[in-house]
Amino acid sequence: MRIVILGAGFGGLAAASMLRGQLPPDHGIVVIDRKKEFMMGLVNLWILHGDRKLEDAQTPLAGLNAKGIEYLNDEVTAIDTGGKSVACKSHGKISYDYLIVALGSELAPERVAGFVGRGYNLYDAPQVPPLREKLLSMKKGKVAVCIMGMPYKCPPAPYEASLLIHDMLERNGTRKEIEIDVYAPAPVALPVAGPEVSREVVSILERNGINFHASHKLKTVSSALEFENGATQDCDVLVGIPQHRVPDVIKSSGLAAGDWMAVDRKTLRTNFESVFAIGDVTEIKVGQLAIPKAGIFAEAQAKVVAQQIADEINNRSPSAAFDGKGFCFMETGNGQAGYVDADFFAEPAPAVRLEPASRQNYEKKHDFERTRVRQWLL
Ligand SMILES: Cc1cc2nc3c(=O)[nH]c(=O)nc-3n(C[C@H](O)[C@H](O)[C@H](O)COP(=O)(O)OP(=O)(O)OC[C@H]3O[C@@H](n4cnc5c(N)ncnc54)[C@H](O)[C@@H]3O)c2cc1C
Repeated sequence: MRIVILGAGFGGLAAASMLRGQLPPDHGIVVIDRKKEFMMGLVNLWILHGDRKLEDAQTPLAGLNAKGIEYLNDEVTAIDTGGKSVACKSHGKISYDYLIVALGSELAPERVAGFVGRGYNLYDAPQVPPLREKLLSMKKGKVAVCIMGMPYKCPPAPYEASLLIHDMLERNGTRKEIEIDVYAPAPVALPVAGPEVSREVVSILERNGINFHASHKLKTVSSALEFENGATQDCDVLVGIPQHRVPDVIKSSGLAAGDWMAVDRKTLRTNFESVFAIGDVTEIKVGQLAIPKAGIFAEAQAKVVAQQIADEINNRSPSAAFDGKGFCFMETGNGQAGYVDADFFAEPAPAVRLEPASRQNYEKKHDFERTRVRQWLL
């Protein structure tokens, strides 16, 4: 059997690692990604804060080969579910017995006129070191952190970024002269976490002198920021979290249902034979909400899919189902992080809890990244 995994991000790497552990070497596992290196999204925040350098943060995907997983550095240009194959720019047609789509989401900063060239895209790693330099060179003024659309990856990340900016400016001795404002399109800070956790997040921001503006969706950037509610605001440094969209190849291959890929919420199977989809490329609705776009869910789904494929190949009855549970560490600056614990399939409603910040959680976050990169690639 040949299992082809599209995307060597959080979900794709977790799936490849688990499958290799479960299947004998005569079953091929192929991972295709246009990138040559992997870096966890959360590392953007460490680069911003000065805890890590971009050039030290990337791990070559070629490390997959030494683990018995074939890595192809290529662009996936089409997916043919009827013919059970994918087309790649350089390697041509690649057939599969099972396909795992883990292509994540793409960023669309151009959707807000005037943003590109004026704002820093927090989610685009190469833009983070110049953003850090700019912030450290400021003597006074206004920093605006704008969430430009929903859904976006890692809902707490913009709040973590604003707290880390606060922390760096404090250390730099310039914080008193610099205002920090966070603008969000939704009426609460974290719609996925509910009103109570949202209030806790806003109170953490306020304790650190950061202003939070709900229901402010950025419309255009000119000499000032213009919001859809009619408000305008000037700022000196604009930090944006751009709108996200499904990768083009998913749309052009007819795999998108609405804005994202549709899957069974427990098995991650799609409507296409032997095709699974995991992580940010999917949308799993839970009432009015959807499972957040986060690595922890991509990984949990990867494990479920890998287990199902291994069970099927080994003629065992299916033994895994996605349970909607996940967690994350929310950095609050000063070497501290809170802990967010979520159960999205809880009845009668999703249950999300935020534990207070501690040094221990901060260390666990670093361990979270280190252990996964080691297991997947080193
Ligand atoms: C600042 C920040 C902080 C974050 N913090 C956390 C956190 O604390 N905890 C957490 O769980 N998550 C966090 N996340 C979110 C997390 O990084 C994503 O949710 C996760 O990476 C999604 O995994 P994925 O496998 O679905 O997609 P990705 O990891 O995005 O991987 C998709 C891969 O597909 C490849 N690809 C796409 N299209 C093509 C194509 N046509 N051909 C070839 N290759 C292609 C891409 O190059 C990419 O490598 C954070 C993200 C950011 C930006």
